[in-house]
Amino acid sequence: MINHKRIRITNNLVEEGPLTYARSGPYSKSEGWTDIRVVDVPLDSIQRVELVTEKGKTVSQILSELVSQHGGNWLCFNASHFNEENGDLLGLTYRDGEEIYQDVLGMTEGRPHFYYKNGRFGIGRQTRPDGVKMAVCGVPTLSEDGKSIDPPHAAEKTPSNELETKSRMIVGIKSDGTLGMITVDGRGAYDKGLTTKEAGIMATKYGYETTVNLDGGESATFATNNRQLLDALEIDKANKKRQFHVADMSLDYQEKVVHHAIAIQFDPDKLLPTYIVDHIPTSTPHNRRAGHALKATTLTIHNTGNPTSTARNERNWLTNPTNEVTASYHIVLDDKETIECLPLDENAWAAGDGTNGEGNRTSIHIEICESGDYQHTLERAVELVASMLQERGWGVERLRRHYDWPRADGYRKNCPRLMYDNGSWTGWHQFVERVRIAMAPISEKKTPFSDVEAGRWSEAAIKAVADKGWMEGYPDEKFKPGNKVTREELAVVLNRLK
Ligand SMILES: [Zn+2]
Repeated sequence: MINHKRIRITNNLVEEGPLTYARSGPYSKSEGWTDIRVVDVPLDSIQRVELVTEKGKTVSQILSELVSQHGGNWLCFNASHFNEENGDLLGLTYRDGEEIYQDVLGMTEGRPHFYYKNGRFGIGRQTRPDGVKMAVCGVPTLSEDGKSIDPPHAAEKTPSNELETKSRMIVGIKSDGTLGMITVDGRGAYDKGLTTKEAGIMATKYGYETTVNLDGGESATFATNNRQLLDALEIDKANKKRQFHVADMSLDYQEKVVHHAIAIQFDPDKLLPTYIVDHIPTSTPHNRRAGHALKATTLTIHNTGNPTSTARNERNWLTNPTNEVTASYHIVLDDKETIECLPLDENAWAAGDGTNGEGNRTSIHIEICESGDYQHTLERAVELVASMLQERGWGVERLRRHYDWPRADGYRKNCPRLMYDNGSWTGWHQFVERVRIAMAPISEKKTPFSDVEAGRWSEAAIKAVADKGWMEGYPDEKFKPGNKVTREELAVVLNRLK
């Protein structure tokens, strides 16, 4: 999950609300609401992990240095509690197989480490530095084995003020090894923050097996040089300059010097999800999430009708307090991401055919954005729709245009408008055909080679290796499937596989 949410904890349960900011009343700090930002880092997205010590520097300064030194995509966050006088991290700390800070006697010996070792993150005490890439002391443990911990383990000697309502930097580990980095806002006018008990409940709800608090208070800082990640977390959307978030929405974004950062270089293709589940809350005004059970029998395709609006804009519009329309959709996608805004087993209001209209009550509605690289968006739409049809065992005959669901008075909306072509709907027919081809089994597809006849026993395999670029044909566009392979040709193929 990569997400920005507004939550509060009531009766030990997490409630999610709209991203609405008021100094009093609904969704305000005084009613217990607070913002969190969550970044899940799958193990296979991690290229490098560093614990950086730079006395006198902020997290974003450390980030800038890493980027200029190594390039690539990084996310950085404050390491853990430190000595305000000399900047040393508190507690036994390891880096690159060596001890860099010692325990504070009588205080930190029972605290768990947040560590990276043998290519995995973990939470737990490391007694020896051997093979440990980095280990810092957190306090307290917030959850274990998927259960929140309250009160904290006595041996951790958690300072009593750490238990209070605060902004926080929390790390968690999922059962598959995914690292979760969670920033909790809570210092300004809009965000309450979380107690350690509430933080444990929150982390458990979002699927982390084990979590630990790295810091409560004004040090909680997250920074990345990846613009898509900043956008997904709704950080600095307006001026596009800031690379960091301090756990407070209302101050002037001054970063505190924290002297250290945990830095992760990542592969954006593996970290950034392309299918995001971000359902609007059931409390969304104007009945946009009515919650009628939907047993869909068709998929309906739309264009957003707005040339500049991204998938994220469209999702946010559904929870924008100034939106007064009863209109919603299940899925919206652009050239980068796909967002599921409503559960696919609940109705949306997108067909315009009334409360009990067939379009509104039997179809899953997919909005194709018009912003960005539209050809790429269309490709992504073809892939999505093909996989959704396949999952359900359906064919392209289950596809509908918004146009196919008339209003009671017979009016039909010209939607998806970019497929309309003055009424001939050629764009629509092409779209359906592309989906059909995408769904065709690989054996039905043609290879680019004139001498590989349709239905040949090896056709699907030849197509697959040609598509992947592992093997090519001869210059005369023949594959010569019966030819022998030389040792040097085999070496070329093996080298491409590596
Ligand atoms: Zn439409």
